[in-house]
Amino acid sequence: MQNSETTLVTMPDIQQAEHVLHEVFGFEEFRSLQKDIIENVLQKKDTLAIMPTGGGKSLCYQIPALIFDGLSIVVSPLISLMKDQVDQLTAYGVSASYLNSSLSPQDYEATLDLIRRNKLDLLYLAPETLLKGNVLNLLSGLNVECVAIDEAHCISEWGHDFRPEYRQLSEVTGRFEHAVSLGLTATATPRVQKDIAHSLGLTDANTFVASFNRKNLYLDVVTKSSPLQQTINFLRRHESESGIIYCFSRKQVDQLTQDLNANGFNALPYHAGLGEADRTQNQNAFIRDEVDIIVATIAFGMGIDKPDVRFVVHHDMPQNIESYYQQIGRAGRDGLQADCLFLFSYGDAAKIRYFINQKEEEEQRVAEQHLQKLMGYVEAHQCRRIKLLEYFGEHFNEPNCGMCDFCTGDTPEREKITIPVQKFLSTMVRTEQRFGYNHILNILLGSRRKEVLKFNHDKLSTYGIGKEFSRPEWKQVYSELMKQDIIVREIEHKSLKLTPKAKEILKGDQEVFGVIEEPVHKEQSKSSAKSDIESLDFNRELFSRLKEKRMDLARKQGIPPFIIFGDTTLIEMSYYYPQSAESLLKIHGVGRAKAKKYGDDFLGVIKSFCKEKDLNERSKSDTSKKTTLVKKTLSKDSRPFQVGQMFRGGKKVAEIASEIGVKEGTVVGYISKFVKAGHSIPTENILEASGLSAEEMDKVRKAFDEHGHELLRPVFDALDEEIPYDKLRVVQLYLMVQDSA
Ligand code: ADP
Ligand code: ZN
Repeated sequence: MQNSETTLVTMPDIQQAEHVLHEVFGFEEFRSLQKDIIENVLQKKDTLAIMPTGGGKSLCYQIPALIFDGLSIVVSPLISLMKDQVDQLTAYGVSASYLNSSLSPQDYEATLDLIRRNKLDLLYLAPETLLKGNVLNLLSGLNVECVAIDEAHCISEWGHDFRPEYRQLSEVTGRFEHAVSLGLTATATPRVQKDIAHSLGLTDANTFVASFNRKNLYLDVVTKSSPLQQTINFLRRHESESGIIYCFSRKQVDQLTQDLNANGFNALPYHAGLGEADRTQNQNAFIRDEVDIIVATIAFGMGIDKPDVRFVVHHDMPQNIESYYQQIGRAGRDGLQADCLFLFSYGDAAKIRYFINQKEEEEQRVAEQHLQKLMGYVEAHQCRRIKLLEYFGEHFNEPNCGMCDFCTGDTPEREKITIPVQKFLSTMVRTEQRFGYNHILNILLGSRRKEVLKFNHDKLSTYGIGKEFSRPEWKQVYSELMKQDIIVREIEHKSLKLTPKAKEILKGDQEVFGVIEEPVHKEQSKSSAKSDIESLDFNRELFSRLKEKRMDLARKQGIPPFIIFGDTTLIEMSYYYPQSAESLLKIHGVGRAKAKKYGDDFLGVIKSFCKEKDLNERSKSDTSKKTTLVKKTLSKDSRPFQVGQMFRGGKKVAEIASEIGVKEGTVVGYISKFVKAGHSIPTENILEASGLSAEEMDKVRKAFDEHGHELLRPVFDALDEEIPYDKLRVVQLYLMVQDSA
């Protein structure tokens, strides 16, 4: 460390690291695995660190670099990010610089000079720069103590981003005798991980894999019905926040950008069809908070590490789970909550399938598997994190993540729809599977249209027997049939055909469950959900004044605002109202250098605000671990919450069912969600709703004891299919409540 304080030298490694974390970066504590990785690096043990985007990989080499006497070098393929990273470090008072092809000859020479004079703690390099003879020779003559290889997956041909230069790196690192090697990547695929470890010569013992669960991302999948309106509704909840909207094609990007701007939003496009200059300009405007929204194709994102992206919308379907995960991963790097909305439609899935079918056979098979995995995620009727993390080989088993549409009760309940499904299927059978959806529906609804009469279909026994559902509701039954592979649509004639599954259902051997939702409810609950930032308890007026100050300083210095202070820092300032340099240092993200450089500017704003409003400083004790992430629990206007409250208030299941116009089984489902979200309910009234006799109850309880409470199917089977699912669910709920008591 250049400006090393004498106290540091006498401390054990990890305490030194903590000291640097507080003093230089102003952070309270290490994030998961950072401590282990840093400890390992400080002991000069080669290390491979696998952490999701936003996990905090940079500190893993930045902190050792400040503790080591010699130089640390960081190899990164992302040239466009180096300047920002160096600016960021400079703001923290760290002596860092970079070498790559974007520098002017003068600047390049100036940096070489700094290196020669041992003035740097950290040097960022593009791989091809490091491989150059003169650079390599210069560095070989110096005390290089750490070689960090960022984006280490680039070394693997199996990765999505193979760079041949990376292959040569392992030869080069051998030239720095005293240097520890640290590979870093956010790629979770085991095959790539192995390849990296092998190519860099890093053994298993030194590999650290963090969880890929990004707790602060709210995951929401919504059926796409009117995409523009849905997007606008969503954006209204995120006014003046930064976010990315991903579209399928360039044309859609341009169209949506236009539509959003016409509706008063502030958006710029980004896709490969724009010239290089326009792309860079739009990207910079986004990074510098000059525009809120970027509408983009997948071309956007690689070179972005803006920490305060508050939302990512998938206006169209992503290619596969991996790219979806990567894209939503660009949100919320600062650890504050970010909202991810995925507008899903079967039409989009068909479009992707069309492209898949153009590929070579082997490639087609792999792509189809990927699509299936993504569909599994979209269609899952369980916590979104289960399927998402399963893809990365991680087992997620929290009862309620509190941060997805399912866990917060924003998804509709599944109900038994066997009877309407049988009606639909038998109509298909009676018309010899020769007709399409509309014709079948006309028969079910007893329509007098001429095609119905022409074929004498008004004489069928199923004519007019489907009046319990409206057309939109039948449409949902139909989409469940397609989704669950019970029927398929023949492309050429658009006629519907039964699959083997349908035959089971017609015979009565198989029940069908699906979502038939009341459209009103979904819209209401969605549109009133508040964004996280809005629900935090801090002074918004002060926050926006501090943001203005930040913008002002950033403009003057020609740097992105987040380099000065992140949102978390401004939020804490707007909560604690620090009035002195000393209390300012206790704020998250304020280290010594930043306090010195920007302290007076921000203290000035806070002091005059507090004077004006007659506010006092709140104390933030050193040890306080105030977490700025607030989990959403059940939203107050969600059905499960309302139903749970009604039940708690003494209403019976049957009463609630008739009051809100759903089946009793659905009410029980809502109450289960309410309980799973951590709310309590009285047990007395539950069992009564099952309508089981004492003798039946006895049998049912025994079956649950034997087969566990989690799944209904084994219990249903064990009871010879005599007790219907609805009744079993009630008992399951009862047992669940007792367990949690
Ligand atoms: P990655 O490279 O893994 O995507 P970064 O290193 O860019 O992640 O870190 C993401 C964000 O988290 C940055 O804004 C960084 O300052 C912040 N951060 C990292 N570690 C901590 C920590 N221990 N406490 C608070 N913030 C942290
Ligand atoms: Zn969840």
